[in-house]
Amino acid sequence: MTSDPNHVDFVRRIIVGDVERGKHDGRVHTRFPPEPNGYLHIGHAKSICLNFGIAQEFGGLCNLRFDDTNPGVEDVEYVEAIQADVRWLGFTWDDRLFYASDYFEQLYRYAEQLIESGDAYVDSLDAEKIREFRGSVHGVGRDSPDRTRSVADNLDLFRRMRAGEFPDGAYVLRAKIDMAHPNINMRDPTLYRIRHEHHHRTGDAWCIYPMYDYAHGLSDSLEGITHSICTLEFEHHRPLYDWFLEKLGVHHPQQIEFAKLNLTHVLMSKRNLRRLVEDGVVDGWDDPRMPTLAAMRRRGYPPAAIRQFCEHIGVAKFNSVHEIALLEFHLRDVLNKAAPRAMAVLDPVRLILDNYPEGQGEELEAVNNPEDEAAGTRRVPFGRELFIEREDFMEDPPKKFFRLAPGREVRLRYAFFVRCTSVEKDAAGNVVAVHATYDSETRGGNAPDGRKVKATIHWVSAAHAVDAEVRLYDHLFATEDPMDPRGGPDGRGNLNPESLIVRRGCKLEPSLAEAAADVTYQFERLGYYCVDRRDSRPDALVFNRTVGLRDTWAKEKAQGGG
Ligand code: ATP
Ligand code: MG
Repeated sequence: MTSDPNHVDFVRRIIVGDVERGKHDGRVHTRFPPEPNGYLHIGHAKSICLNFGIAQEFGGLCNLRFDDTNPGVEDVEYVEAIQADVRWLGFTWDDRLFYASDYFEQLYRYAEQLIESGDAYVDSLDAEKIREFRGSVHGVGRDSPDRTRSVADNLDLFRRMRAGEFPDGAYVLRAKIDMAHPNINMRDPTLYRIRHEHHHRTGDAWCIYPMYDYAHGLSDSLEGITHSICTLEFEHHRPLYDWFLEKLGVHHPQQIEFAKLNLTHVLMSKRNLRRLVEDGVVDGWDDPRMPTLAAMRRRGYPPAAIRQFCEHIGVAKFNSVHEIALLEFHLRDVLNKAAPRAMAVLDPVRLILDNYPEGQGEELEAVNNPEDEAAGTRRVPFGRELFIEREDFMEDPPKKFFRLAPGREVRLRYAFFVRCTSVEKDAAGNVVAVHATYDSETRGGNAPDGRKVKATIHWVSAAHAVDAEVRLYDHLFATEDPMDPRGGPDGRGNLNPESLIVRRGCKLEPSLAEAAADVTYQFERLGYYCVDRRDSRPDALVFNRTVGLRDTWAKEKAQGGG
């Protein structure tokens, strides 16, 4: 246990208490239980960090279990992606990979046991009638006419349901609890329904499938889970889970509910994200604008940034919305320390040093990471013709512009002082090249006579530059609440039309031609970027912007621009 017990969250405090009292023999065993109906998102990361983190801190175990009870919407693609994502986040389940479908036989036997003890019955009411009979919070429900069916008849019907004698919807198995219970979840909930559907793991072995509420708590019990940590909306399901466990007399995990993660500008639920993919709003589950872990990986998020964010926000018992800027703060914090630096020009204009000898060149030493001495230095080629950012030059600059302008001297990062002498334009008046002279005495970026310049700009040698496409990403939704009603019922009117801006013909320093797929670089003065692992080719490089250097969004918004 590494955390200070006085500063831990309420979940850990409960567990500390349980361990001290010797509950479950002092064992701590958690699980992360995704349904394989989509890719994991940043909200799941909160649950993963909590469950696997607690197991690590308490010397316990954490299982990965797929809650695969709903064959219609589940798929092996998701099963595989989810495992890759949990591993990427930095957690391991060793040999404890489980599936609720592994328990179908045991869950079925439990159901027969409940029938035999008079605690479950087969009902022929259809879904609509069941809903109608359930009543509302304002009144009691009504008993189904089948509620008094004999145990023998229930057993017979349930076995025939399993044997496939009936079509979908003909019968369900329900718990016999209390149709007047103040908690609607306790009004004879459905345990099994008939679904003649192929399951991605059990194939056609089953045509009845357990409901999530029935399978979930019992799966936890079967795995010997000590603390079933789940989100707040399951608080009112806890009495039902407890009822199953008590009726069957099996191991009883302690359920603890915490608040879901919500982020501004982010649409969270898998179901909603799936619609964005299916409708082609984004280019797949790993489109770098998605809040999925696969997208964040592709976009260059280091997993440490996500873990640090999850640790920072902690867990609480009330729902709230965090600013996306907070996630990006942790992202920048981790990247600033870890990211190797490089120079790249995204909107290039040629800078010609007229007094630099033609046909010559040299290499200059550049620092790889000023935050990390061990990262060392690299050599960057320099020559007579360079590329600089178009916006770093102005022919007729306003007072506060300190970068390159006619007659003005600036520093080229890691290189020399250069003074602008003239500008070349095409017939339409566009700048096609900027001319300057360099001061060979200022090699490395300092003048021996102590003279100062007001700006340092980045550059890339034209003779050595590698071309790349760079994709600039921004929030997928412009509004803080993606479902803001002004954007229509599906929030589509809230989409940010500038969530992806593609820049072609960008010029990168040559070392970036060999950029590793899992390294995020800081392009000096611009932000953090990584190779796009899906689309980049050696002869057609593609880079993604992970995040800018600063939170420009907040600033623009304050000025009424966003
Ligand atoms: P979704 O609506 O995105 O499908 P879910 O809760 O239905 O979410 P599951 O696959 O059932 O998704 O979730 C696996 C685990 O992740 C559950 O324990 C769930 O409580 C947790 N989880 C899901 N979304 C969040 C979130 N936004 N914040 C924290 N935990 C979450
Ligand atoms: Mg779900």
